[in-house]
Amino acid sequence: MKTIFEVAPITQWPHHKRRPLVISGPCSAETEEQVMLTARELAASGKVDIFRAGIWKPRTRPGTFEGMGSTALPWLKRVKEETGMGISTEVANARHVYEALKYGVDYLWVGARSTANPFVVQEIADALQGSDATVLVKNPINPELELWVGAIERIQKAGIKRIGAIHRGFSSYEKTQFRNIPHWLIPVELKQRVGNLPIICDPSHICGNRTLLLEVSQKAMDLNFDGLMLESHIDPSVALSDAAQQVTPRALICLLNRLVMRNPESTDSNFLNELEELRGKIDIYDEQLIDILEQRMKVARTIAQCKKENNITILQTKRWAEVVQKNLALGVKKGLGSDFINNMLRLIHQESIHHQNKVMNEGEQVTHELNNGVKTNVG
Ligand code: PEP
Ligand code: MN
Repeated sequence: MKTIFEVAPITQWPHHKRRPLVISGPCSAETEEQVMLTARELAASGKVDIFRAGIWKPRTRPGTFEGMGSTALPWLKRVKEETGMGISTEVANARHVYEALKYGVDYLWVGARSTANPFVVQEIADALQGSDATVLVKNPINPELELWVGAIERIQKAGIKRIGAIHRGFSSYEKTQFRNIPHWLIPVELKQRVGNLPIICDPSHICGNRTLLLEVSQKAMDLNFDGLMLESHIDPSVALSDAAQQVTPRALICLLNRLVMRNPESTDSNFLNELEELRGKIDIYDEQLIDILEQRMKVARTIAQCKKENNITILQTKRWAEVVQKNLALGVKKGLGSDFINNMLRLIHQESIHHQNKVMNEGEQVTHELNNGVKTNVG
């Protein structure tokens, strides 16, 4: 796919030292002491590049802690002066942008609820005109790539050169092991759409708990994400927001030390030869899959012809339920994920219905008067 625009590579970002870029700090700045104690421990590790702390907090329900507001900006400034880390916070309107820039905040991020609202993003973009800040755009809370791309585009059009995305997962009504479902394909596709776009993963908001943090961080590294944003609080048990997902600075460093960093590329010829051979096998299987699907659709079209001659409907729910049940059991026995089998069968079924529909209606005059007022032949 053609990339729509290029942004500055992450190596040009201030405070960037190595992959992964690490942004860490509490969900919210609560007191100057909490901010400074957390920041000092994180900085001492030498592994954290940028300190984060929310000061204007978008909370789901009113009556919960909504952040310290501008009172906390001098605390962030002190973090920068004393520790040398860059500083970052969330902005959700023009005033936030002006205030944050006034206090030398290096990285401003657009929160998930704001990205979902183009009016808010435009207001932020307008306020950013002429500034030299680095801007990170979190994914919208709903799994919609276009909204995410659109928000990045608005920031880019405001003249911001250093732009990145933060993948923090997508909300859903279903209860899953995640607070926000990752849908990894969405950020991967985003990277293809915007050339060079640095992507940071935010495992804290994806997980919503501490237990899955390492697994999700590792997955992000294996998918070649550029950085991690992880919440850390000097004492998570008393945190005023997102207590369940925050870790102490010591636990955070431990997590970072356990990450296995893999290279995106290699020049080792033995490895490259082996990889080429294995990829050759994958190509053969992919071709076979397509052939099999073609043959399957041919049979479906023959069935459609029979159904047509006998005046029988296309959809046979009982038969389809049996197909799903049988193949789900078979797939799971062979080590394939049940979600994968379900999704794959659903897509095959849709395609099959589409083919059958065509056969059923072939050669029949169908009027499309509501659409274009002319008679067309569907087939
Ligand atoms: C946060 O980073 O603390 C936050 C509120 O994140 P999100 O916008 O991803 O919910
Ligand atoms: Mn949070």
